[in-house]
Amino acid sequence: MDTQMLIGSKFEKGTETEEPILNPKTGANILNLPEANPAQIEAAVSAAEQAFVSWSRTTPAQRSGYLLKIADRIEAAAQEFATLEALNCGKPINAVLNDEIPAIVDCYRFFAGAVRSMPGVVAGEYLPGHTSMVRRDPIGIVASIAPWNYPLMMMAWKLAPAIAGGNTVVFKPSEQTPLTALKLARILAEVLPEGVVNVVLGRGDSVGNTLINHPKINMISITGDVATGKKVLQAAAKSVKRTHLELGGKAPVIVFDDADLGAVVNGLRAFGYYNAGQDCTAACRIYAGKKIYDKLVADLSSAVSTIKYDRADDTENEIGPLISRRQRDRVSSFVERASELKHIEITTGGKPGEGTGFYYQPTVVAGALQEDEIVRREVFGPVVSVTRFSEVDEAVKWANDSDYGLASSVWTKDVSRAMATAARLQYGCTWINTHFMLTNEMPHGGLKQSGYGKDMSLYALEDYTAVRHVMVAHT
Ligand code: NAD
Repeated sequence: MDTQMLIGSKFEKGTETEEPILNPKTGANILNLPEANPAQIEAAVSAAEQAFVSWSRTTPAQRSGYLLKIADRIEAAAQEFATLEALNCGKPINAVLNDEIPAIVDCYRFFAGAVRSMPGVVAGEYLPGHTSMVRRDPIGIVASIAPWNYPLMMMAWKLAPAIAGGNTVVFKPSEQTPLTALKLARILAEVLPEGVVNVVLGRGDSVGNTLINHPKINMISITGDVATGKKVLQAAAKSVKRTHLELGGKAPVIVFDDADLGAVVNGLRAFGYYNAGQDCTAACRIYAGKKIYDKLVADLSSAVSTIKYDRADDTENEIGPLISRRQRDRVSSFVERASELKHIEITTGGKPGEGTGFYYQPTVVAGALQEDEIVRREVFGPVVSVTRFSEVDEAVKWANDSDYGLASSVWTKDVSRAMATAARLQYGCTWINTHFMLTNEMPHGGLKQSGYGKDMSLYALEDYTAVRHVMVAHT
């Protein structure tokens, strides 16, 4: 197992506080990893600074070549990466191997192509006697900070557009899930020129805090909690750094009476509980029309009760445990508080799993009202609430009545109603008759307190590059 950080071309262990890295399926300690000391963080930033001089002047075709090599190397080691991610995050091995790794490989390949064909305003004489052109140039050194729910995928979403755009990076994985980042660091050191990507370990309030406040960092890219995003903005204000924020979510799902009930139930069973609901786009806040409500609650509850999550044979599992005991206790306390309300019924689940792993039963909370905590706050666990609505205006109002604005979905057989409703939703993404489906060509990112950074797609390449105007006088 790789345990060392990548600083320039050197592999080093941290020397500071040790973080226990746990196996969420058992609660057992895998190993302890010390975090970076201030001199190591400084060395990583310096390595990125030095690398920027030549990396920022490589051609798109050259950078594309590097990205393709990274993609090939991850693909060749798919089984090893999947095994490590499953170990560190508790994910079912098949979910990592079949869903995540192909999307990760494709992310590097997408940006390898995208950087060679960036669109934009055409050059021309917009003032007589002067030719104008627009360039998109690298921003500089990016501090990339990732969460624990999809460690290797978040690394891909952050590294691929940043290095495609000609930037250099100091990357910090979540202190809870660093193992795949350390493995990838070995590949990055072999494929990329020295210092283009550096990987440092540590907690948010120590190493993360040093990075976001570092005067040489030009851009901060973070996926995490809203509270963390706000700290990043405060730090960025001091030296006007660019920021790319992907924060939480609480996705509303509007199910009209005419929806295909079977498809809705299958969809919610899959997209409300995938990754044990530890997903900022999880279909967790259902608004069901008054006629479909009862059948939806009954069918969803029985479908959810069949989700396989704690089988000894991991290839049978559809979801895994939560990431930590703390996260499981947090989820548990949300459901306990909800269940104390008279109007709420827990129709399936509602309890932590047995044993030492951090499991929580897939849960349906029926009869929830708009003002309830379970409808308003991000639970980040395998818990879906269902609320009854009467009129479309009420459903849209409730759906938009949230601090978050990342993802949403609308379920109906009526195309006009689907389009009219989608147009009124204040979310970075609205799916119709599905949820959760992502593709590297399309942007992923939010509105409101979900942040404003776009991952994947050409929009991410725009976020990681600066627009510049160059004008030439004809004299
Ligand atoms: P978190 O905010 O606690 O941590 C995210 C990362 O930020 C970690 O690497 C952490 O070490 C670092 N961090 C924490 N405090 C910091 C500080 N003061 N300075 C610098 N870095 C700091 O979030 P988490 O618990 O790891 O992840 C779960 C959260 O991420 C959820 O709220 C979820 O919705 C959100 N999320 C959002 C998206 C999205 O695309 N919008 C995707 C995945 C997760």
